[in-house]
Amino acid sequence: MVDSATGNLVGIDLGTTFSVIAQFQQDGSARTIANLDGEPLTPSAVYLDLSTNTALVGRAACEAATAEADKVAMFVKRDMGKPFYSQLVCGRRMRPETLSAIILRKLKQDAEKRIGPTHRAVITVPAFFDDTRRKATQDAGRIAGLDVIDIINEPTAAALAYALVDRQPATDQGVLDLPGGTLTALVYDLGGGTFDVTVVRLHSRRFETLATDGAVKLGGKDWDDKIVEYVAREFQRQHGLNPLDDPQRRVAIHVEAEKKKRLLSKLPKVPIECFHAGRSLKLELTRSQFEELSRDLLAQTQMVTQLVVQQAKLGWHQIDRVLLVGGSTRMPMVKEMLRQATGKVPDDSLDADQVVARGAALHAGILAAREGEGELELEEEARDKLRDVEVLNVNAYSLGVEAARGDRMVNAILINKNTQLPYAASRIFRIRHAGATSVRVKVLEGEAPSAEDNILIGECQITGLPPNLPAKSPVQVRLSYSENGRISVMALDMTAGRLAQAEIRREHGMTDEDIRRECAFVQNLRIE
Ligand code: AMP
Repeated sequence: MVDSATGNLVGIDLGTTFSVIAQFQQDGSARTIANLDGEPLTPSAVYLDLSTNTALVGRAACEAATAEADKVAMFVKRDMGKPFYSQLVCGRRMRPETLSAIILRKLKQDAEKRIGPTHRAVITVPAFFDDTRRKATQDAGRIAGLDVIDIINEPTAAALAYALVDRQPATDQGVLDLPGGTLTALVYDLGGGTFDVTVVRLHSRRFETLATDGAVKLGGKDWDDKIVEYVAREFQRQHGLNPLDDPQRRVAIHVEAEKKKRLLSKLPKVPIECFHAGRSLKLELTRSQFEELSRDLLAQTQMVTQLVVQQAKLGWHQIDRVLLVGGSTRMPMVKEMLRQATGKVPDDSLDADQVVARGAALHAGILAAREGEGELELEEEARDKLRDVEVLNVNAYSLGVEAARGDRMVNAILINKNTQLPYAASRIFRIRHAGATSVRVKVLEGEAPSAEDNILIGECQITGLPPNLPAKSPVQVRLSYSENGRISVMALDMTAGRLAQAEIRREHGMTDEDIRRECAFVQNLRIE
C-alpha cells in the first residue's frame, strides 16, 4: 500500500522514446533526477526475460533490441489506450499499461536510490490524449505503485516550467517578463512519437490554455523512418535486395538512422553505411537532402500550428513567444519553419527534453502548496509563489453522445472542443419502454458528424431506475470533463428527482481486478 502522505513529490514525463523524472524542491523549483547510468533521459524501452522474471529498462533494453527484438518493447506510448501492445513480447500479449508501468517503476526505483521514498507523482500526457489514453496512463502509474496525484498536459507543464523555473537565480527571480501583464505563448512540442501545439496565455499567476491540437502518430520516429526508407531504397537499387526484410538488420538500420538524424542537426552532411547479406552500401546524406525527404512531415506540423493559432482566435502577431519542447525541435528545419511562420525567434533556452518533467514536478508542488500539506516543508517564499497559481485547460476533443437521427446514428455534441475546463453539459434521454430500469448511451470524443467516425470512449450505463416508469420518462445525463481532461458521468431520474447510478464502461479499459493482477506481475519482476 502506498503511504501517500510522505516521500518526495515528482513529475514524470512518460515519453514515446525517452522518459524523465524530476523532483519538486523545497525552494519551489524542480530538478531532473539522473538515472543510475547518470543520464537524465531514460529510453522508454523494455526488455523482458520471463524465464528469470527480469526486465531491463533504458539503454540496456535498446542494446538488446538488435539481437533479441522479440523480447523488446519500444514506442509503447503510441499504443496507449489499446488493449494490447502492437507486437508480442516474449511470445506474450502485453498491455501497454503494464509495459509503461515497468518504465515508471524503473524511474521510481532509480530516483529513490538518489532522493529516498517517492510515491506521489504527476504524470504528463499529450494534450490531445483522449479519455481512454488518459485513464491508461493513470492505470500505468497505479500498476507501478505510484500515487498519481494528477495528470497534466505536456504543453501546460512546459509552459509552467518556462514561466516558473529560475534560469539565473542570482538575477532572475523566475518570473516571466510579462508585457502588459500577460504573455501569449505558442508551445510547439515535437517529441519522439507525438506532436502537439498549444497556445497558452500566461498571466502572473494564471495559466490559461486557449487552444490545442496535435497528432498521436507524428514524431521524431517518422523522421528516422525517412532515412531508413532512403537507405533501403538505395540498397535495393544497387544490390536488388531489401535489407529491411531481415528483422535484426531492420532494427540496426533504425538505430543508425536515429543517430545520423541527430548528427544532421549539427553537421551539413553525414556518411551512412549499411551491410546486409554480404553486400555493403556507402552513401552520404546532406541536411538539405534530409529536409527534402521529410518535407511532408514538417508541413503537417506547420498546418496544425496554423490551425491552432486560428482556433485560439489569434493572429501570428499576437503570439509573443514560441517555446520549443521535445527533442525533435533540435532539428534546424523546425526552428526555421517556426521563425518564418511566426516572425519570432523560437525560445529554446530550457532543455527541450527535460522541461516537461520539470513542469510536472512544479504542478505537483502547486497542488501540494494549495492543499497546505503539513508534510511538505516548503520555504515560505515558494509557498507564496505557488499557492495561488491557477492552471486552466481546454479539451482537445468535443464530447458527445450517440443519438438517432432518422435512420442514422449521429454524434450529438454536448461540449465543444477547446472549451475551458472543468465543464459539464447535460442532455435529456427518454426511456424507450414502460418499466425499463436502465438506459445506455454511447459516449464519443471527436467532431465528426457520424457517430462511428469518432472515438468511442465507452458505454454510459444508467441503472437502478424505479421499475414503474412510463415509456418516454425523462432521464437527465450529465457528462463532465474535469480539469485534467478525464470524463465522468452523472444521471438524474427526472420523474422522482433522484440521482440514478451511472458509470462509463470502457470497452478495453482495465478493471480494478486487472490492475491488481498486473501490479503483482510487475512487483515480481526484477527491474534493472
Ligand atoms: P523526446 O521524446 O522529447 O525526448 O524526443 C525524442 C526525440 O527527439 C527522438 O526522436 C530523438 O531522435 C529526437 N532528438 C533528440 N535530439 C535530437 C537532435 N539533436 N536532432 C534531431 N532529433 C533529436
